[in-house]
Amino acid sequence: MKPFLDMEAVRAILEGRGGYPVSVYVHVPFCARRCRYCDFFSVAGAGVRVMEGYVERVLEVLEQMLALLRPSEIPTVYVGGGTPNVLPLRLWERLLKGIRERVEVWGRPVEWTVEVNPEWVDEEKVEVLGEGGVTRVSLGVQGLDEGFLRLMGRGAGRREVERAVEVLAGWGGRVSVDLLAGRPRGMSGDVVRELEEVSGWGAGHVSVYGLTVEEGTVLGAMVRRGEVVMPDEEELAGEWEAICRWFGERGFVRYEVSNFALPGEECLHNLRYWRLEPYLGVGPSAVSTLPGKEGPVRVRQVRDVGRFVAEGGVWEEVEVIGPQAFLLEWFMMGLRTREGVEGERFRRVWGVGVEEVLGEVGRRWCGWGAAEMGESGIRLSEHGLDILDSLLKALPILIWEKQIGKPLWP
Ligand code: SF4
Repeated sequence: MKPFLDMEAVRAILEGRGGYPVSVYVHVPFCARRCRYCDFFSVAGAGVRVMEGYVERVLEVLEQMLALLRPSEIPTVYVGGGTPNVLPLRLWERLLKGIRERVEVWGRPVEWTVEVNPEWVDEEKVEVLGEGGVTRVSLGVQGLDEGFLRLMGRGAGRREVERAVEVLAGWGGRVSVDLLAGRPRGMSGDVVRELEEVSGWGAGHVSVYGLTVEEGTVLGAMVRRGEVVMPDEEELAGEWEAICRWFGERGFVRYEVSNFALPGEECLHNLRYWRLEPYLGVGPSAVSTLPGKEGPVRVRQVRDVGRFVAEGGVWEEVEVIGPQAFLLEWFMMGLRTREGVEGERFRRVWGVGVEEVLGEVGRRWCGWGAAEMGESGIRLSEHGLDILDSLLKALPILIWEKQIGKPLWP
């Protein structure tokens, strides 16, 4: 891992390839305030001048990187954060239209998602979505119970959420909703009851993430001091079962461990990410996985808004991913999804079949009813997805013992 490479060095690593599809992620590192559970990279309370500098710089870096990569197409774009729609209208418009201009040089993406937080959704910003080419919005609701939202330090209460849903209903694009499960004990909110309400909004995609207690967060300190008590394994399993049942009964497919969609509503951007297709991340802390001269390369941009604006394409970490590590990631990511690890592509990239690599371990999973494996690859059953973490524990040793050649990727 080499620290602080400049754009010249990145060019030396990546140049000479090109001609393959690349997805684009743009990180907007601003929030009005920090939620108590969050450990993502974002800055609270930044002024307009800082945001302005960021928008210009991120567009410049995006343009430079796309010119360097020369993608055959950009199938998907994802603008995430932070809270992208905390940007004032003028900068929101400049960012979205600026991304569109730069991306559409390489063709029109089939899907373009923007994350928004309810309290910053308004008619004018929603109007810009359509003009900017956005096709899908991911609405960070997280919950509808006022007590829970307050405890988590969220900026929106039920009223703001309902207002955002109303405004977005007139927009016409696809809407996904994020909810948090595994809430602290004593919360009156119940995810399944909230799902009933969410289903009335017409969202075809819902992500339900388990609330995790991260070191260094306010929630972490509250749990340590005993002010907040988190549910135990058994309670979590019971809740998760009820959530999956609710979705199943309404025709939603659990197409990834935490993501549920009606047919055709899956997030293509995230699917490409789990399939380990090349993607470019721009903005402070954004990560890219791209083909390099020595093999797949993972780069991360500097986690510092000031440095990002002042110096532009600063890469804080550059790592050439060795074959074993990349293969392990291939399984870790692929097995999270309902489609699993697809056999034909696997053989093309790795020169061997899925069955040859997984061998006895894969057959054991099949025997437990946790997976199906064959020429077409391997995919986990509903039960397999539930016990994913314990299944994956067998993989590092298995893969580290294999002789694996350099992947023919992408
Ligand atoms: S709005 Fe999102 S990114 Fe910002 S602090 Fe809250 S959870 Fe983190």
